[in-house]
Amino acid sequence: MCLFCKIVSKEIPSKVVFENDDFLAFHDIYPKAPVHILIIPKKHIVSFDDVDSQTMANITPFIQEVALKAGIKESGYRLITNIGSDGLQEVKHLHFHLLGGAKLGGNSFGK
Ligand code: AMP
Repeated sequence: MCLFCKIVSKEIPSKVVFENDDFLAFHDIYPKAPVHILIIPKKHIVSFDDVDSQTMANITPFIQEVALKAGIKESGYRLITNIGSDGLQEVKHLHFHLLGGAKLGGNSFGK
């Protein structure tokens, strides 16, 4: 089972922000901005390159709701998903980084 599947099953603890039957939002363990939340589908999908359009349609309002709950809807935010080797995707379970809470520099999500 992958790391984020273990977070979904609560085998590995996380700081949950918001969840429903299909998606989970939790705080990144190494935040790179004042708000850094990871948003994932509960079902295992390797990356954006593998996701179906219905899941993308359903996750959109979920992400918008997380931005509202995190208090960054009005101030703005950045949404990132890393894909594969050149994308420097470390965890092979689709996730969106929701970053905000400050003016984000051009390289604020550098690795
Ligand atoms: P990526 O490089 O796009 O695959 O991002 C993986 C993200 O997962 C990184 O920002 C890590 O800090 C984060 N991460 C790794 N392990 C955990 C964990 N146990 N709980 C929360 N976030 C994690």
